[in-house]
Amino acid sequence: MSTAELKTITVVGSGLIGRSWAMVFVSGGYRVKIYDNQPGQASKAITEIRKQLEELEEAHMLRGQLTAAQQLALLSSYEDLAQALEGAFFVQECVFEQLEDKQGVFQEIERFVGKEVILSSSTSCLVPSSVFSKVQERSRCLVSHPVNPPYYVRLVELVPHPEAKPAVMDAAHSLMTKVGQAPVLLKKEIDGFALNRVQAAIIAESWRLVQVCVRERSSC
Ligand code: NAD
Repeated sequence: MSTAELKTITVVGSGLIGRSWAMVFVSGGYRVKIYDNQPGQASKAITEIRKQLEELEEAHMLRGQLTAAQQLALLSSYEDLAQALEGAFFVQECVFEQLEDKQGVFQEIERFVGKEVILSSSTSCLVPSSVFSKVQERSRCLVSHPVNPPYYVRLVELVPHPEAKPAVMDAAHSLMTKVGQAPVLLKKEIDGFALNRVQAAIIAESWRLVQVCVRERSSC
């Protein structure tokens, strides 16, 4: 593929989830620009990703059709948000799970991108109508809620903003499928999404089982 044909995704926040999303997207052949507001964090993330990709290649566990070196060549780090967003068609936000932080980040992102750029949040439990409340063009907003880490657990929950266009959800679904994730599309936002609710029920039932075993002094 020539450089001109490469499509760009910007990952905002280079912690655990941001690094893993970046690895997922480069495995699918996308150019990925990583931005973090902490000086040096985004470039440190690339060093960490390099180590992981090389180890995965060595262990024959690398995702996608490209070599580790080819995937690394698709990655770049930025300390300037405007530069990081230049040319992106999709933005995956992965900053702290604080509503005000996310609202502020998306308000800032919107200053630098066109109306057609899809804005996606990795939030674990904040509903899209809250996360994107300061965004003007909300028809391009959704939550792509990963399971930690998305590189190894492919399930991703796609939760639309109430104003999200069906075409935006289709595009996000198609992107996630292309990069090898297993997207589940929710029809509307709901507290806890679907995954956290199902997970909470399984965890609660598991603890009840442990309590029964302890009470009866037996193994179940
Ligand atoms: P983390 O603390 O590991 O990383 C957050 C990163 O965001 C840090 O590098 C920080 O410097 C950066 N950051 C903070 N504010 C920023 C800003 N304004 N602009 C740019 N960068 C900023 O967090 P994480 O575990 O990677 O989680 C990120 C998101 O993913 C959260 O919303 C979290 O709820 C969600 N999530 C986490 C998990 C998990 O198990 N860790 C699972 C699913 C979803």
